[in-house]
Amino acid sequence: SKEIECPLNKSELGNHTWGFLHTMAAYFPEQPCMEDQRDMAQFLRLFSRFYPCPTCARDFSKLIDKEPPRTGSQNELKHWLCWAHNQVNKKLGKPKFDCSKLDERWKFGWKDGSCDIEKALCFV
Ligand code: FAD
Repeated sequence: SKEIECPLNKSELGNHTWGFLHTMAAYFPEQPCMEDQRDMAQFLRLFSRFYPCPTCARDFSKLIDKEPPRTGSQNELKHWLCWAHNQVNKKLGKPKFDCSKLDERWKFGWKDGSCDIEKALCFV
């Protein structure tokens, strides 16, 4: 029998959103043109304004004001986002993620081969 699909709670929305954001960063151009750099910074500001969890949105907007997104390269963006996610982890009492593992987690799969990597986006 098929499970009933229900509106997202805060945790589900967050989990899916981080998946989207980290995957997007993993595929951001390595050397973005000025327009891409500007638009990605703008996207993250607008995203935080409309994120449908008011406390999350407010705190994330403040974080962006204090520490603006770094969009000068794929590497900068990935690491800025990892840092930002770790700030949220800290606030929620979740463990800090090791940012040296970003590409294994979000792009190429774990080095021990435990991911079904042929289905990953980097192969399409
Ligand atoms: P998540 O935190 O959703 O992480 C998903 C996966 O990402 C993890 O399993 C891990 O593999 C990986 N990961 C973890 N840390 C990092 C990192 N630093 N870099 C890269 N990958 C990482 N919830 C609240 O209750 N209050 C808030 O104020 C709040 N603010 C949020 C703001 C934003 C912008 C977003 C997107 C979400 C926010 N959330 C907030 C939701 C919260 O961050 C979690 O998504 C939610 O609690 C579910 O947690 P999770 O255990 O599934 O892991």
